[in-house]
Amino acid sequence: MSTVVAIDGPAGAGKSTVARRLAEKLGFTYVNTGMLYRAVAYAAMRSGLDLERIPEDFVASLKLVQEGDSLFLDGEKLEAQLRTPQCARGASIVSKQPAVRSALLELQRDAARKGWIVMEGRDIGTVVFPDAEGKFFITASVEERARRRLAQPGEVIGGATLEKVMAEIRERDLRDSTREIAPLKPAPDAEVIDTTGMTIDEVVSAIAGALGR
Ligand code: C5P
Repeated sequence: MSTVVAIDGPAGAGKSTVARRLAEKLGFTYVNTGMLYRAVAYAAMRSGLDLERIPEDFVASLKLVQEGDSLFLDGEKLEAQLRTPQCARGASIVSKQPAVRSALLELQRDAARKGWIVMEGRDIGTVVFPDAEGKFFITASVEERARRRLAQPGEVIGGATLEKVMAEIRERDLRDSTREIAPLKPAPDAEVIDTTGMTIDEVVSAIAGALGR
C-alpha cells in the first residue's frame, strides 16, 4: 500500500480545495499534480514550442520542484501564472503526450517517499499510485463545475459567461477522458462522489469517514 490518498476527477470538481482541506485535517502533505502539467505548458509556451509536439528531452530539461500549491521552475516560483485558462488548456494538450506523462511520473511517485500525502489529479488512482490507501473520484455536473470556476478569480478570462466556461470544461473533459494514455476515469476500486449540491466540508467529511479517520 502506498501512503497516498488519491483524489481524481474532472476540471472544476473542487479537487484542489477538497484535497487541500483533507490534507490539513489529516496532517498529510498536499500535492497538486495538475500544476506540473500546467508548468510544462507554461514553459513550452514561453519557449515558443508547438504544444501538440513537445520534444522528448524538453520536460527532462526543466527543473521542477513542488511544494504544495507552489511550483518552482528552474528556481522561479510559479503560482498565479499557472492558474490561467491558457495554462489549463495547454496542460490538457501537453498531457496527452507519452513523453510528457512518463517524464512527470517519477516526480509524482517521489512525492510519497517522504510520508503520507493527499495527491490530486486525473490518473493518480489508476496509474501513478494504483495501490493507494484510499481512492476517490470526485465530480459534479458541468453547470455546477462552471459556476465554481467562475467564482475563482484568474481561472477564467474577464467577462466569461457561464455558457463559455461550460464549453471550455466540456472540451477539456473530452480531451482528458478520450486520450490514449492515462485517460480521466475512476479506478475500478475508487469511491465516486458526485459533489453537486454538497459543501466542501461535506465532501471532506465523507472522504475522511471513508478512510476511517
Ligand atoms: O487539475 P488541473 O485543472 O490543474 O489540470 C490541468 C490539466 O492537466 C488537466 O486538464 C489534464 O489534462 C492534466 N492533468 C493530467 N493528469 C494529472 C493532472 C492533470 O493529465 N494527474
